[in-house]
Order: sequence, then structure tokens, then C-alpha cells
Amino acid sequence: MKICPQCESGYPDKLEACPIHGVLLSEILELRPGMLVRGTYRIERKLGKGKMAQVYLARHVLLDEPQALKFLSPELSHDQAWTQRFLREIRALRQIHHRNVVTAGNLEPAEDGTLFFTMEYVGGADLMEFCREAPKPFDVALALDIIRGVALGLGAAHAVGVVHRDIKPENILIARENGGVTPKIADFGIAATREQTRLTNTGTALLTAQFAAPEQWRGEPTDKIDGRTDLYALGGVLFEMLTGRCAFEAENFLGWMQQHLHTLPPVPSSIRPDLAQWRGLDDLILCLLSKDPKDRPPNVEEMLNFLDGIKQLPQEPKAAAALHAKSSGPMEEQVAGTAQQDASQRHTHRARLVDDPLPGIEPPPRDSETGRRDSAAIVDIPQSQSRRRLIAFAALAAVILVAAIGLLIHYAMSNPIGAQVLTQQQDAILAVNFAPNGLEMASASRDKTVQFWKVVGSRPLGKISALVSAMTYSPDGRVLATGMGDFSVNLWDPSQSAVLATLTGHTGQVNAIVFSPDRHSLATAGADGTIRLWDAENGTAENTLAGSGGSILTLAYSPDGHTLASAGADMSIRLWDPAQGMQLRQFQGHTQPLNAIAFSPDGQTLTSASDDRTIRVWSVSSGETLRTLSGHTGAVTSLAFSPDGRLLASGSADATVRLWNMNTGAVHVLNGHTGAVLSVSFSPYGYTVASASADKTIRVWDVTSLHN
Ligand code: ATP
Ligand code: MG
Repeated sequence: MKICPQCESGYPDKLEACPIHGVLLSEILELRPGMLVRGTYRIERKLGKGKMAQVYLARHVLLDEPQALKFLSPELSHDQAWTQRFLREIRALRQIHHRNVVTAGNLEPAEDGTLFFTMEYVGGADLMEFCREAPKPFDVALALDIIRGVALGLGAAHAVGVVHRDIKPENILIARENGGVTPKIADFGIAATREQTRLTNTGTALLTAQFAAPEQWRGEPTDKIDGRTDLYALGGVLFEMLTGRCAFEAENFLGWMQQHLHTLPPVPSSIRPDLAQWRGLDDLILCLLSKDPKDRPPNVEEMLNFLDGIKQLPQEPKAAAALHAKSSGPMEEQVAGTAQQDASQRHTHRARLVDDPLPGIEPPPRDSETGRRDSAAIVDIPQSQSRRRLIAFAALAAVILVAAIGLLIHYAMSNPIGAQVLTQQQDAILAVNFAPNGLEMASASRDKTVQFWKVVGSRPLGKISALVSAMTYSPDGRVLATGMGDFSVNLWDPSQSAVLATLTGHTGQVNAIVFSPDRHSLATAGADGTIRLWDAENGTAENTLAGSGGSILTLAYSPDGHTLASAGADMSIRLWDPAQGMQLRQFQGHTQPLNAIAFSPDGQTLTSASDDRTIRVWSVSSGETLRTLSGHTGAVTSLAFSPDGRLLASGSADATVRLWNMNTGAVHVLNGHTGAVLSVSFSPYGYTVASASADKTIRVWDVTSLHN
């Protein structure tokens, strides 16, 4: 472009002199502050430069308002493909009208023919600078607000068939409006639109390595890419805002590709622990970052439902906590399976309390016909006696009032525990396990299937046909190990439902399988009374621990991996040193076979569940029984600790799941199953418990309220 030094107007390159002032034009490579473009836009400054364009702040001289002008870079102006891409950007942008998307203006050629278009000028920083300057750690509520705005903008784009495909902090501009901040999506430079879907596969050259979705890395055809690609990037943006680092880390392009395609992102709260106080936040981010678009929320609306469900867990005030502990105390509270049942039970309970005659106090006689209190009877009582009665009544009224208030507070604080009921398999469900990423679950049924589930939305995924007697995920979630009908153990790739290895050696049903916490070893045990140790990487047998007294029903590794515990038909617990293959100790106390054992996450205690209907808590160091948890009215079949060790879930043949608060002693009983509960699993985030039952259902319980 050329410029007149006098009027500062731009002119085509072929002109030698200014047609108005006659002075020689000078050639410029960049637009200069003060120069006038198309006689309308006075350039103020350069706002930024991207891969294909330069963006300037200009003032519309007639309207006297700021506007952003995006110029196709001069070196690309002669390139057909880039020009088309630039045109597609403005055409896409002009279809979207939303406060969270920059508003497009007109497309014009500058004096030298270079194309530019005008846009609403967004005065604030982009999200990258905004985050850099914000206090650390980044405020969670603000992050969610910003992400909500961006999602709404994306929703408007998706609604007209536009997928942005390059969501990243630099392309989210932050406007300061009405004392708050409004995110606005910019740069639809590689957006795909419905009309030209087959044309615009971007290849990998234009991808932003930190945020591009696996399907973009795979170079999938554009008609296979939809709004869920933007949701993946949005998950990456939220991850980075909250943790200050990218969900993945790599040194080069290939590294990034590898990470996006094959590596699971870390759980955000493992980087920033206070995020765990936001129920559902880890889940949302990990769900958005799912490798397979099918595992992400299907659209912005669903994503917003998910986002709106995120709650900061209230901190329990000390006084209320004491009252709560006192009112629930060691006693049990029956929590019905549904909110309605729960409410009606409470009503009858409260009504009974009010109607019951008070202990030690004779109620005034009732009129035999009307049932009303006979006031004359009170008048006849001598005065001193009547005053005493009056005081007693007043005192009792006060007691009732205090009790009622206490009861109300207690009920207000103990939210009902609701459950989703999953029905897909045709026979008793023998085992249920959350995958370590908390996003999937597997359930094994007597109907000879293993069903995989997506936790969010409780959606059934694939199925394996196999009769499985025991099942567990490896700590990294890459392998599902199952005990098979022919006494072998299969290692599966759960994402492909493919058998990776078959381990043979047991001569009876395999009842228990556990991975060592470092996931290098696998221990299996069963009806043949042996414990077998395997190299979990290549499936080779390493050692056999024998002499454990009859059928083994359960195994557990201590959290440090140094001790393996086994238990079963002989009613005792044996602790083993798996490295040496030696039995260390034996604990005895139960009066019937043991079905489940679990180490507390701190490794200090071991709990055991037995057919004798009790759960015992043992000190690992001394072997003493520290507590006996009784209440189940049938054999206790299964145990699972919450990750923080505060809650223990137990399943029982009495068709209930009990949740024991290991700190306060309070117990919640989850009713709803109509058959024996055979397996329980805690989600790795601790807010959900899954229970599998002989009634052919799985129930997924939201136990968030018990963390309060
Ligand atoms: P990329 O390399 O990301 O593809 P690009 O060449 O398509 O970039 P943009 O991202 O649209 O260009 O713009 C480059 C920079 O200009 C942005 O990062 C931002 O700082 C600034 N910018 C763009 N649009 C606006 C606007 N409407 N208001 C204010 N600044 C803007
Ligand atoms: Mg950009």
C-alpha cells in the first residue's frame, strides 16, 4: 500500500502521486497510526497479528466510534486458498449474532485491493493476558462464568452450523461491561460451516497444539467434526485457567499429537486440591477432554446443564456440625431410595412424635365422645398442684420445641440421597467397578455380559460377552482384569473390548483380583485356596502363595503395595508379604466366612465384611479389632472406601447399602434395591457410590450431602 504524507490516505501501489495533493506517495508495509483507510477508518494502532491477518484499532470518522479492522496479511493476499479462508471467516461471523461472539461488520477492499473486514472492537485483554494478570489461583466461580459465556457463544455458532475449531485463550476476548467481564469469541479463521464442510479439512498445520481435539489430529474429514470439537478445546481452556498449566505437556508437535490422542489428562484437583470442593468440576473437565467425541457432552446445552450442576460444597459450621453429630450420633437414619418416600417417612415420623403422650405425664382425660380434652377436669385440681402441672407443661412444651427445632435442623442438613437406576443386564449383577478416571463404569452380570457405562448420564456403552466371577480395573484404567468361567483370568483393553492376555493356573473359580497400586503386579485368588501373583505387564506367573485355609473370597493390597491381605471361608484375615511370598500375620474374630476386605486409604486400618452380618475394623499394626459395625440384617457382601477414607460403603444381602462415617459414627442406610447387594464401588472423586444387586439393577447414588 502507498500513503500520502499530507492527507495520510492510503492509495494503490500503482499510483505515483496523491491525486488530491499532488505529492509523491510513499510505500508502507504496515498501516500507520493516523492514516485513513477508505476515507472512513482512521487507524489508531495495531491490535495483533495472527497466522493470516493483522488486526488494527481504527476510528470510524463519521460515526466517531472505535472498530477493529482485520486485514488479510499482504503476503497472503495473492493466495487463492488464504483469500477463500478469509472470506469464509467473515461469512461465518456474519451469521452469528450473540453477545459472546464479536459482532461482524462489512467486508471491503482497501485502496490497494487488500481485503479487510470490520468488527466490534473489544477493549479488554484476551483470555491469556486476563489469566496472566488475575490473582492466583484463578477464581473458580469467575472461570465457570467465563466458560459459560464462551459456551453460549459457541452454542450460537453451532446453531447456524459453524464450528470454530480453534478455541484457545488468545481467541477469547474479554470485554469489561457493566462492572463485569464478558467473554467474546473471535477469530473464526479456520471455522467450518455447513455449506462447505467437505472443502475445509484444515490438516494439522493450522492446529493449535495445546487445544486441538483428537479428531483434528487424526485429520478426520470436516463433515465428521462437529460442536464437540469446540467442547474439547473449551475443556482444555478451563483446565488451564484453573490449574495454570495445560492439560498436556509436550515438547514438539508429535509429542502434542501423542498426548491428545493417547494420554489421559490429569485430574485437575490432583494439581490444585481445592478444586475438589467443587462437586462435578473435575468430572466436567475430564468429560470435555474425552478422547472420543461420543464421550463428551453431545452439545452446548448438555454441557451447560452439566456446568450448572457444579456446586461448591458448603463448609460445615462447627456449631451445626456438633448438633448434627449429636442428632444423628451413633444411631441410624433410614434414607429412602427416592425423595418422595423420604419426605413421607419424615412426615409420619414427625407426626408421631407430636401425637405421642409425653412420658411420665398423664394427659388430661378426653371426652369419651368428642375426644376433646376435658377442661373442667383441670379446674377441679387443687391450686398448688395445678401450678406444678402448669410449670411441668411449660417445661415440656419447651422441650418439645427444642426437640422439634433440632429435628428440623437435622432433616434440613441431611439431604435425601437419590439414585439413578441402571437396567441393561438380564440377571443378577455380580460386580460393579468405576474406572479410575471416574467417567466410565463396568458391571458384570450372571447373564454372561460385562456392560460398560458412561457415568455422566448413565449411558450404556459397549458390552463384552463373558461370564465373569471377579473384576477389577488397573490403576491407570487401561486394563480390566476378569476372572472367567474356565478359572482363567483375562486382561482386556476396555476401550476396544479386546483380550490382551489370558492367565491360566487356577484350578477353581477365581473370586478375587487386585492390581498392586503401582500396577506392575496382579494378585488373583479363588476356590482352589491359592493366591497367584502375576506380572501385570506381560501376564507371566511370578509366585503362588498357598496354605490359606480353603476358598479365598477376597484380596486387598495395602496402599503402599507392601502388604497383600486375603480372607475367605476360614473366617480369618491373612497378611502376606508379596515380595517374599510369606505370610506375615493372621487376624481372627469373625464367626462366619469373609466376603470383602478393604484397607483404609491411609493404610492404618483394614475393614472386613462377613456373612456374620458385621463389619470389623482392624488395626493393621496390632491386629486388634478397633470397632465392630453392626446393623446389616444379612450377610455383608462388599466394601468400598471413599478416596478420603471418611466414608465406608457396605453392601449386604439385606438389600441395603450402608454408608458409615468413619469419623462420627453416623450411618446412612440406602434403600431401594429389591435383592441382595453384591458389590459396591466408590467413584474416584468420592461423590458417587455404585451398587450392584441380585435384583438385576445397578444404582448410582449421589452421596455429596454426606461429605458436608
Ligand atoms: P490466529 O493466528 O490465531 O489464527 P488470526 O490471524 O486469525 O490469528 P485473530 O486471532 O483474529 O487473527 O486476531 C489477532 C489478534 O488481534 C487477536 O489475538 C486479538 O488480540 C486482536 N483482535 C482480534 N479481533 C479483535 C477485536 N474484535 N477487538 C479487539 N482485538 C481483536
Ligand atoms: Mg487468533
